[in-house]
Amino acid sequence: MPEKVVIHSKLEIEGIRRAGQAAAFVREELKKAIVPGITTKDLDEIARGLIDLTGGRSAFFGYRGFPGQICISLNDEVVHGIGRSDIFIDAGSVVSVDVGVVLEGFVGDTAESVYTGIPSEDIDRLLKKTRESLFAGINAAIEGNYIRDISEAVQRIAESANLGIVREYVGHGCGKKLHEPPEIPNYKTSNKGPRLQNGMVLAIEPMLNLGTHAVKTDADGWTVRTLDAKLSAHYEHMVLINDDKPEILTWPKK
Ligand code: MG
Repeated sequence: MPEKVVIHSKLEIEGIRRAGQAAAFVREELKKAIVPGITTKDLDEIARGLIDLTGGRSAFFGYRGFPGQICISLNDEVVHGIGRSDIFIDAGSVVSVDVGVVLEGFVGDTAESVYTGIPSEDIDRLLKKTRESLFAGINAAIEGNYIRDISEAVQRIAESANLGIVREYVGHGCGKKLHEPPEIPNYKTSNKGPRLQNGMVLAIEPMLNLGTHAVKTDADGWTVRTLDAKLSAHYEHMVLINDDKPEILTWPKK
């Protein structure tokens, strides 16, 4: 059985482009607001205002009961952190923001990690190589390749930088729904996955750790953190398969 994929029409792609741009706008503006001294709840509130400005709504709020507007994950938190009024962003923190915007029925999904300070060599490697692994994956997102080519490209960079690759959370198709098939692991599996075709939209999102790949979930049922309490980073873009040149839908155009 071939794995299910979603091929979007030209009209749908126009809508997904607008949603991708809305998410990119929120991500870029939000990064400017990440400063020591504010709480993660403050940051979530700022995100709410930015999402409002786009005319869209949060794709995450209420998703399986998620209580935040965006996901905010600090330091050893990998993904799905919730903004809290008792958690302050300190100087010298890795802050990962994951933004999902629904606009006119289409979804934009993007994430980035920033550091509030001058990074040490290890932290610099974590951030730069996680970003580099995302772009290696994006460069493999061309018609005729397979999902596994993306996975392998991400894995190659991650392993060459000696970073742990989170297994439990993976990239995904995206566009009309937040999560569409297929899944995009950040490591090679025995399954090469579906062949990439024009009109597919993929959210590629490596989550890499300075230490072990192993993670656990907090008692809140959402916050995922590294088992060894070492730092984690997360970068995500949505790309359109478009012949031999992937189009990054969450790259700010303006
Ligand atoms: Mg995603």
